[in-house]
Amino acid sequence: ITAQDLTRSTFERIKETEPKVDAFLQLNEEKAMSLAKAIDEKGITEENVLAGIPIGIKDNIVTKDLRTTAASKILYNFDPIYDATVMDKVYQSDLIPVGKLNMDEFAMGGSTENSAFKKTKNAWDHTKVPGGSSGGSAAAVAAGQVPVSLGSDTGGSIRQPASFNGIVGMKPTYGRVSRFGLIAFASSLDQIGPMTRTVKDNALALTAISGYDEKDGTSAGVSVPNFAEGLTGDIKGMKIALPKEYLGEGIAPGVQEAILKAAEIFRALGATVEEVSLPHSKYGVAVYYIIASSEASSNLQRFDGIRYGYRSENAKNLDDIYVQSRTEGFGMEVKRRIMLGTFSLSSGYYDAYFKKAGQVRTLIKQDFDKVFNQYDLIIGPSSPTVAFGIGENINDPITMYKSDILTIPVNLAGLPGMSIPGGFSEGLPVGLQLIGNHFDESTMYKAAYAFE
Ligand code: GLN
Repeated sequence: ITAQDLTRSTFERIKETEPKVDAFLQLNEEKAMSLAKAIDEKGITEENVLAGIPIGIKDNIVTKDLRTTAASKILYNFDPIYDATVMDKVYQSDLIPVGKLNMDEFAMGGSTENSAFKKTKNAWDHTKVPGGSSGGSAAAVAAGQVPVSLGSDTGGSIRQPASFNGIVGMKPTYGRVSRFGLIAFASSLDQIGPMTRTVKDNALALTAISGYDEKDGTSAGVSVPNFAEGLTGDIKGMKIALPKEYLGEGIAPGVQEAILKAAEIFRALGATVEEVSLPHSKYGVAVYYIIASSEASSNLQRFDGIRYGYRSENAKNLDDIYVQSRTEGFGMEVKRRIMLGTFSLSSGYYDAYFKKAGQVRTLIKQDFDKVFNQYDLIIGPSSPTVAFGIGENINDPITMYKSDILTIPVNLAGLPGMSIPGGFSEGLPVGLQLIGNHFDESTMYKAAYAFE
């Protein structure tokens, strides 16, 4: 098979399935075909194992000459003049970007229902949400449109949709993958990561997109192993921790059952699984919504109707341009976060909210450090429930926020977290979450591969 054949059949498959899943915001057919042609002419070498493979890109990753909206009306006409660093890496690997994937506006949400443009459907049941915010990235992979996509995860946006769609999603260690060219939501939490159907594909994709980048001040100068090496299936003696807070109240019984079964499988593979405690994880959601909203309120100041995208036609003076463009350009959830964040950063409330949240964040991180002094890996569910119905939680932000109760602490601590298929409940996939120590994605891939 040539890269051109593969690319052609990929677009056929996308066009056939798109009416049902609605995963894509933009397709990139012409450029994809010309990239495929160049790859066929150059030839596929053993070094370039990913050459010619189609990849979908979440729409908050900027792509040169390819519309990038972050699923917001305020960026409805934004055609970037540069590529994100991960896109440079995608091209260096000869992966072929086929289009931009739907998401919650500015990655704020857990169901992809906050997109200004369309609602993506769960690949298993079109009446259910695909999760979010990387719902398009997850549904596209699960529906067989592309074998790999890129998502971003600030509080669970790779792992929760991976869980809801029964695929593999990795949120790498903070600093592992460059954030240059990722439209910022909460800069101290955001990471880009790969979503795939298999563990090995995921390991290959993470190897391709990782590495130090001088254009990102928080990029880590650590070496990048080939994550696909050492996937032997042998995990004898691995020490695995299961936090009791991850199986208690608020976690659906069917999800708990699947995770306990998974623990037995790890034991049968020769690992030990013991109960531990993460006592401060219960504060995760509260801490996250203060920190993430505060950072978002600052990051989103740049969308002022002057520099990018949408400008209100009703404005009569400069102040009006700012106010009207933002009023008309941002969706409800984005406005809610901006107000919450601006409030927690305001001088009268800074100590009580933003500063306090930072202190509790440290306690959450210390809980994990203690566990990793004794264990190689933590397991638990990725999300408290399986995919919920479209429309079911959209008017209930607190229920929606709780969908990330098990993923948020990982971002607050900067650790790597991954969701892999971990069974079924109510006929829908359950995600098994693996949490690793800083920069130890290798151990997670080894365990995931053995489990798969
Ligand atoms: N669902 C969470 C939120 O709405 C996480 C989103 C994300 O990870 N980008 O903020």
